Amino acid sequence: MTRSISILGATGSVGEQTLDLIRRNPEDWQVEVLTANGSVDKLARFAREFDARLAVVSDEGCLPQLRDALAGTGIEAAGGREALCEAAARPVDITVAAIVGCAGLAPVMSAITRGGIVALANKEALVSAGDVMTAAVAKHGATLLPVDSEHNAIFQCLQGNRIEDVARITLTASGGPLRTWTLEELKVATPAQAIAHPNWSMGAKISVDSATMMNKGLEYIEAHHLFPVGLERLKIVVHPQSVIHSMVEYRDRSTLAQLGPSDMRVPIASCLAWPKRMETPMAPLDLAAIGELSFFAPDEQRFPATRLAREAIEAGAGAPATLNAANEVAVAAFLAGQIGFMDITVVVENTLNRYSAPAPQCLDDVLNVDREARAAAREILEHA
Ligand code: NDP
Repeated sequence: MTRSISILGATGSVGEQTLDLIRRNPEDWQVEVLTANGSVDKLARFAREFDARLAVVSDEGCLPQLRDALAGTGIEAAGGREALCEAAARPVDITVAAIVGCAGLAPVMSAITRGGIVALANKEALVSAGDVMTAAVAKHGATLLPVDSEHNAIFQCLQGNRIEDVARITLTASGGPLRTWTLEELKVATPAQAIAHPNWSMGAKISVDSATMMNKGLEYIEAHHLFPVGLERLKIVVHPQSVIHSMVEYRDRSTLAQLGPSDMRVPIASCLAWPKRMETPMAPLDLAAIGELSFFAPDEQRFPATRLAREAIEAGAGAPATLNAANEVAVAAFLAGQIGFMDITVVVENTLNRYSAPAPQCLDDVLNVDREARAAAREILEHA
């Protein structure tokens, strides 16, 4: 049976990998909405290829160009933040939320408010909105499926078990491309070095987050909201091969792990087919060829981001949204060559120290905290 799908952030790494799976089974899918920020040509190309009903650019200035690119196709074109939220609210069988950053929050909330199935890659939205988002999921009867490989692994390991029986959830971290670098080397790491991830091919922002370990910090907060076992039961272990995507240990000391190739199409497929399974183009896992799996404790001296994330979620209120906003500002500054690699977490820590945000009660509150935290982070950057 054909299922309808909307992809928010269709031109990004996760968006494209979702489309790759759809391309392999076109008869199974009706593409409703595809969105981008400003990548008009790519968006128009995908909209034509997948015969989407609607294509949306968040950057309204790009709308005339999108209209031109889709002229004569019968595909609707729209532009702007409001149009993006309206598009996300269209009824579909599944929405893939793959916009990067807190920019994806309002559209994700639109999809949740409609009460549908949302496959969530956009971790920053959940980190920032936290309880506001989980309350909306409960209130509107939405289903949140985790696309993030770690959370998808945990989700799979929890099937058929009771959350009360969980003794420990362990998020695995590759450690990123700079895992073995000294503090002195880290200080002069360039954007090109930071985004050269050894295992995963991803967008620039998450690649930098992976190098600083902020990605794991954000995932720690994400896990706290998705799997409410208590922070004391959430752990992080560095596992450079990225074969085990995460683990759940139960109180009888039985540990379930999910293994697979380092390819996002596996967790994306798990969400698209849920609760069934579908084929993916990946080769079977060859453990003999992999040979060894290794594990290390995180080093929070060289990579303080996981400590900052833990402190932010322990502090609660608007601290996680502040952490996320400051990190987005700092990562953009690093990618633009304005600050050094180790300055990213310094900016985040200083923003958290300077700006004490109230607990958000609704979407607008979260967006306010996000705005003010960004302003605080930018001020810190200017005086750095
Ligand atoms: P990319 O940078 O590759 O793509 C981001 C997408 O979001 C693009 O479609 C982009 O459009 C769109 N976008 C960017 N800014 C805005 C904005 N202001 N408003 C609306 N749309 C916008 O990111 P990834 O695919 O790497 O990551 C997407 C999300 O998934 C992130 O939250 C990331 O943490 C998460 N994730 C990613 C993984 C990966 O392997 N890549 C793995 C696990 C999680 P445009 O092309 O026009 O700029």
